[in-house]
Amino acid sequence: MGIISKPDRKLSLFLRSSQLRFAIAYILITAVVLFLLNIYTSSTMRRMIFRAQQQSLEEKAQLMTTALLQLEDLSSPDTELAINSLDDLRTTRTVVTDASGVALYDSLEIGNAEGKLLLFPELVTALEGQDVFYSTNADGAIESRVAMPLMRGGQVLGAVYLMQYDTDQAELIDALQTNVLRISIALESGVILISLLFSTAFSRRIRRILHSVRMMREGDYSHKVQLRGHDELVHLGREFNNLAERLEESEQIRRQFVSDASHELKTPLASIKLLSDSILQNEMDASTEREFIGDIGREADRLGRLSQKLLTLTRLDSAVEDEREIIDAAATVRKVTRMLMPLADLRGITIDSTLADGCTVMTVEDDLYQVVFNLTENAIKYNRDGGSVRLDLTKDGEDVVLTVADTGVGIPQEAMEHIFERFYRVDKARSRAAGGAGLGLSIVHDMAVRNFGTVSVSAGLEGGTVFTVTFPLYEEDAE
Ligand code: ADP
Repeated sequence: MGIISKPDRKLSLFLRSSQLRFAIAYILITAVVLFLLNIYTSSTMRRMIFRAQQQSLEEKAQLMTTALLQLEDLSSPDTELAINSLDDLRTTRTVVTDASGVALYDSLEIGNAEGKLLLFPELVTALEGQDVFYSTNADGAIESRVAMPLMRGGQVLGAVYLMQYDTDQAELIDALQTNVLRISIALESGVILISLLFSTAFSRRIRRILHSVRMMREGDYSHKVQLRGHDELVHLGREFNNLAERLEESEQIRRQFVSDASHELKTPLASIKLLSDSILQNEMDASTEREFIGDIGREADRLGRLSQKLLTLTRLDSAVEDEREIIDAAATVRKVTRMLMPLADLRGITIDSTLADGCTVMTVEDDLYQVVFNLTENAIKYNRDGGSVRLDLTKDGEDVVLTVADTGVGIPQEAMEHIFERFYRVDKARSRAAGGAGLGLSIVHDMAVRNFGTVSVSAGLEGGTVFTVTFPLYEEDAE
């Protein structure tokens, strides 16, 4: 009770599917069209045959009336003679009556009505002075009747009545009707068959895509939709596969990030644990103990900086947009230089800058500050003692360009393409000693991109490294 077996479920899904509704609508429309076509062809055919019959009978009646009106007197023998003198006017029945409706001539042998009063409705109308034509198709034959008054000087002298009983034409109409009907049934069966085939094939393809969507929902990103052809479903399948690939990639990046981040967090934590255990377990003099505690403090600072950078990256990954404002980039560069001057002084490094006027950008101020800060801090950190750092801010077309050049260790060519990846460090020991975790440049990259800018790296002409950052120039009158 209430449990639907798999084939039943498939059937009920198919019955409720939109493609079945389309197929049914299509079948109904073609059925109606074919039905109307049947009615139209048979009625047109019948009308054409009736008209041909009418024309031929009327012509014959016309000839007869002309011949009969030439007689002086409408007597039975004269009428017969006049009619027999006309060639090829054969009909099933020919009757000529006088003005009172009494038959003067009747071509029938059996049931001949000569001398009798005939009250066929067509005859009565003709004797009132009007031409009449009437035709029916029944019992496998077409029966057509024409009656025409014999008029001389505005006076009705009598009437001619012709009747044609035709089975050949009726057979033709029947045959045509049957053929059109057969063709229609064959066509409709074809339409039903093709519609059902198409809708089941369509259903099967949709089910494949659905299956892949479910697999992806379960976390299997490697599953791909396999569809052949060139229709919209194939496009949909291809887009779905691309989406799955992108998700797989970002899932991979996420996992890598989490594992790298935990590794980076573990290292200072392990040092802190080791140092504190040493203090607790070993007898040591006050100055060594102070040294160990100092080390614990530095590791804690490193942890603090690391978690701050991780938080920054998470913020950059989220879609939350900070408010942008118009900022003079030169002011930000000056602020950063002021902040980092003590660090540079410690190692005898000089910082020179050339800052052009009017380098305004529309950006998030903290982002711009962070970009300049990270690049300048690196230029100091990875410099040699007594080296120099140059900051140049210029306008170039529609961009504001900042270059940060140093006289430091430089970056090997093969490392340059990875330099903006998260947790990437050229020389791990050196970088860790300088307090880095390989996140600073990826923050620079993400912040530049988020603010419609770019960042690139190259080797300096006389050694060292040059970082170039661009941001779109904000010009007030351009708005
Ligand atoms: P970190 O926090 O380790 O400094 P970054 O992302 O800022 O991380 O830098 C990644 C790596 O790139 C560094 O570990 C360092 O090896 C190298 N690097 C960055 N800037 C420079 C530079 N100006 N000169 C030489 N090497 C650099």
